[in-house]
Amino acid sequence: MKTVKEATDLGAAIVPKHEVEILCSNCGYDVNEAELAADTCSDCGEALNLRQNTKIYATSVPPAGGSTLV
Ligand SMILES: [Zn+2]
Repeated sequence: MKTVKEATDLGAAIVPKHEVEILCSNCGYDVNEAELAADTCSDCGEALNLRQNTKIYATSVPPAGGSTLV
């Protein structure tokens, strides 16, 4: 599941536009919204642990593989 968050101006800092992708940490399956509450991955059948990938939309910063383990 990919969710695109628009840029947010917080005053002291600006949160750039970014995309959050939620995947199965075991197999990388793209977990959709209805499957977020599931106990097991519908693709690999393992216990579902979510991994969140954040991709920042920034033209001035080179891609740095912004992966975040949750
Ligand atoms: Zn899986």
